[in-house]
Amino acid sequence: MKHNASCSCGQLKLIYNGEIKRTAICHCFECQKKTGSVFAVHTRLEKSKADIEGKSTEYERIGDEGSKIRLHFCPLCGSTVFHYIDIEGYMDSIIVSVGNFADPTLPAPVFSVYNARKHHWVEIPESVTEQWD
Ligand SMILES: [Zn+2]
Ligand SMILES: [Zn+2]
Repeated sequence: MKHNASCSCGQLKLIYNGEIKRTAICHCFECQKKTGSVFAVHTRLEKSKADIEGKSTEYERIGDEGSKIRLHFCPLCGSTVFHYIDIEGYMDSIIVSVGNFADPTLPAPVFSVYNARKHHWVEIPESVTEQWD
């Protein structure tokens, strides 16, 4: 199974050779600023099954737990397609923004995190089984 993600202009592509099993919502302010939306939806995938084509610029920030988060965005259109989290347990993972697949059939989110920063009108979907602030 193949899933294709890309930036707005199409220059930066990510081809995932595997199944997308789970997605998660993040309400943190960094994700709000990253996306320009009021929450982000991500999927954690196996780095070894992801082929990346095109150029990306890396922006590094330090997460709340001290982990290094390395965001990759298209230098032409600015769309952030994927990121890495340099912390134990995540070294084999690549986190991809679900919207970049432009595929409304992908699984509904099972996690919702940083709920303390959730906009008051956003409702957590029924598919979410795990939440934390
Ligand atoms: Zn682009
Ligand atoms: Zn976040």
